Parts: sequence; structure tokens; C-alpha cells
Amino acid sequence: MSWDVVVVGGGIMGTVSALELARRGRRVVVLERSVPGAEASSAAAGILGAQLEAHGPGEEADLLLASRALYPGFAAALEDESGVSVGYRRCGGLRVCAPGVRREVELAVAWQRERGLPVELPSAPVEEAISESFAQAVRFVEDGQIDPPRLFAAASVAAARAGVEFRAGAEVRRVIVERERATGVALGGGEVLSCPDVVLAAGSWSSLVAGAAVDDVRPVRGQIVELGLRAPLFSHVVLGPGAYLVPRADGRVLVGSTMERVGFEKRVTAGAVRDLLDAALAIVPGLRDATLLGSWASFRPHSASGPRIGASGIAGLTLATGHHRNGILLAPLTGRRVADAVTGAAPSA
Ligand SMILES: Cc1cc2nc3c(=O)[nH]c(=O)nc-3n(C[C@H](O)[C@H](O)[C@H](O)COP(=O)(O)OP(=O)(O)OC[C@H]3O[C@@H](n4cnc5c(N)ncnc54)[C@H](O)[C@@H]3O)c2cc1C
Repeated sequence: MSWDVVVVGGGIMGTVSALELARRGRRVVVLERSVPGAEASSAAAGILGAQLEAHGPGEEADLLLASRALYPGFAAALEDESGVSVGYRRCGGLRVCAPGVRREVELAVAWQRERGLPVELPSAPVEEAISESFAQAVRFVEDGQIDPPRLFAAASVAAARAGVEFRAGAEVRRVIVERERATGVALGGGEVLSCPDVVLAAGSWSSLVAGAAVDDVRPVRGQIVELGLRAPLFSHVVLGPGAYLVPRADGRVLVGSTMERVGFEKRVTAGAVRDLLDAALAIVPGLRDATLLGSWASFRPHSASGPRIGASGIAGLTLATGHHRNGILLAPLTGRRVADAVTGAAPSA
């Protein structure tokens, strides 16, 4: 079997890139060293927080906003092609704070209002469940959420149906570069796959792939605690001091997350669980009686130069890595930009 494109890494970035390439008629294989979707892409909270997460005007904010705008169509197409519901909801985001710091928060988002983005400064509490101590809020009505494991399942079913082959247990050691052009990949065990195009989507491990032209991607560990309620107490994604809270329609609430540079040490720590729960219960006291459903940790791929999406500087090698805190949000834009770069199409996102 010969391939037009080899994708290194079977997380959400590799999978949406493969899907978009298959939609455009390319024969694609995704090489995944362990199990597709088992790393950051299933661990994420699924906040689509283009405004909650944007720290100021600039290229990164533009990427987040552009990808958020693609989400309704992206989610609908995935559901249509896979039959899997992805839990996309434009539920809005609330950045809550103590009364004394409201002005500071307003100033931090002033650039968004100047740009014409919808930023509300409600005078009355928006969610009854939120403690009076955090009743001051800035509301971003266009932010939302998605359920990452379901998003991944939908993308991988759609990709498989479109003809993408997934190979689990296939670790790529090196991108083969000959005369300044990528010509294939070398796997552990000595196998070589030759092909005209390689996409690097190896998440936090991207800089460990030799020859891949990316040397600054590092893991940033995030821990999440999952709680369960009989029915949702609030509907917005809530970002407050020390934690964010993501309410699912079925009563689950995800509480996240830490930002830790501890290498690839994948574990949940007692201190992080305590700190996240303290912060969450201070913001929504009604969570005190929630069921503790579980906890997990994973790695955000951080690149000092921001998300690396598109051309790499080596012909035939396209990048889809370094998405850090916003990879789920950036998935639709990444799939399109990667496919544009590989096929030489005019930018479609
Ligand atoms: C706790 C947490 C919360 C988050 N919350 C959000 C959120 O609310 N909203 C949001 O937008 N984003 C969020 N993110 C970020 C988001 O999860 C990531 O940016 C995104 O999942 C990165 O996708 P990826 O495909 O690059 O990485 P991954 O999902 O990690 O996939 C990379 C894949 O490559 C494979 N691989 C690595 N090396 C090789 C190799 N040499 N050969 C073959 N395969 C290889 C790995 O096994 C892995 O499966 C969160 C992340 C974490 C950890």
C-alpha cells in the first residue's frame, strides 16, 4: 500500500488533519505509538474559550477566534459523518472575580470590546449557584464547550469512514529528510514508510521525533477532577481564581486545571486535587455534596513560539503541534490549515 500522506501522532490534531486530507482525496495513514486519542485530546476539559482564554490582541487571539467561528459547521459535519454526538454547546463563558478586582478584569478585556467582540458586564448575578463572593462577572456569550472524548471518537470514525488507516503501536523515530525534502518516516523496529508528505502531530512528544524541525515543544501537565451532580447547577463555563468549572448537560462538572512543568510524569497529586476542589467549592458552594467521580492528568504541548500549524521550512513536512491550552478549540482551523498546506490550496481558514 502506498500513501500520499503519513501523519505522525493519532491525537485530535493528527486525526482532524487526516480527515480533512481524506476529504480532499488523499490516501492517509496515521501512525500512533500507543492508542489513538489516549493522550491530551481525551483528557481536555473541552472549553471553547476564544475570549476566556485570549490574553490580549495578536496572532494567537486571531487563531482562537477564527477557529471558534468554524466550530458550529465543524461539529455538525463530524456528527453527520460519524453518527457520534460531540456535545457542542455555545453555553457562554463567565470569568468571575471578587468585587474588588472587577475593574481589573474589565480592563483586561477592554481590547475585546474595542474590537467589537461581545463582552457583557452583567449588573446582576448570572448564575445563582455561584457564591456571592464571586458574583461579579464578565460574560462571553459566544464561548462554549465540547466533550473531548466524544469529539475524538467522532473524528476518528469519520476519518476511518473516509478511508484513513490508523496504525496503533507504530512509533515514529525519525522524519527522513533528503535534499531538504521530507521523503518518509523511520519507525522503531527499522521499518521505513516512504511518502511525499509527512504531517507532524505528535503533541507534547513532537520535539522527540528526530528530523522534524521542531525543537521547542515541551509538556505542561494539567490535572482535572471530575464531579457528578444529579442535575446541572449552572450552565456557563466558569473561570475563577484557582480553577475553571465545566458543567456537562448530564450533571458532570470538570474542575481544572494545574499548569505544571514536570516532564512526562503522568500522575494526579493530592495537593492539586485539594487546591482544585477548594477553589471550585469556593466558587460554587453547592458542589460540596457532588460525587467525586474521578481525576486524571495529561500533557499540553507547549511551544515557546505558539501553535505550530502549517509549513515547517522543510518541503513535504507540515506541522500540527504546540497547541498548548487550546488544542480542542483550534482543531477545526488546524485540520483546514494542514490540508491547505499539504495540497497547496489557498488558505481556507
Ligand atoms: C488537563 C488538560 C485540559 C485541557 N483543556 C482544554 C480545553 O478545555 N480546551 C482546549 O481547547 N484545549 C484543552 N487542552 C489542550 C488540548 O488537549 C491539546 O492542545 C490537544 O489535545 C493537543 O492535541 P494533540 O493531538 O497535539 O496531542 P495529543 O492528544 O497528546 O496526541 C499526540 C499523539 O501523538 C502520539 N505520538 C507521540 N509521539 C509519537 C511518535 N514518535 N510516533 C507516533 N505517535 C506519537 C501520542 O501517543 C499521542 O497519541 C487541555 C489539555 C490538558 C492536558
